Amino acid sequence: MDRDKTTTMVVSKIRNGTVIDHIEAGQALNVARILKISPKDKVLIAMNVFSEKYCKKDILKIEDRELKGNEVELIALISPRATINIIRDYEVVEKFEVKIPKRIRGLLRCSNPNCITNSGEPVNGSFTVVMERPLRLRCEYCERFLDEREVIEQLTGREQA
Ligand SMILES: [Zn+2]
Repeated sequence: MDRDKTTTMVVSKIRNGTVIDHIEAGQALNVARILKISPKDKVLIAMNVFSEKYCKKDILKIEDRELKGNEVELIALISPRATINIIRDYEVVEKFEVKIPKRIRGLLRCSNPNCITNSGEPVNGSFTVVMERPLRLRCEYCERFLDEREVIEQLTGREQA
């Protein structure tokens, strides 16, 4: 597709909501799943768009929704270069880059069935980020590693090819 046309399509403005830019090419649908996009949501997804910085990127726009902190953390896990733009009345009122946190608490499950966090005790999963690219987490209770593929599967509920 012609580059200029693609760009025009992608930058068309929304009134209120969030634009997630610089999503890793190919990850936009996983981001949509993390955000639990429903058929009622007004969403525009652009995939494999030309990017000055990274060659190719995905973009996702959601109308009438501003992301919460833990949603931003989860997006960072699968797309660490993404930028979040909060739009109000057609203006970008806030713009920031996502950041992979050092610890992730309460959002992921340990894959070790014998881990205390899977024993029915009221203990939430808690992980230390030991590597960002490729993503690698370590359970703070049993030290089992969780890799990027397992994280994406948990977050999206889908097996990765
Ligand atoms: Zn564990």
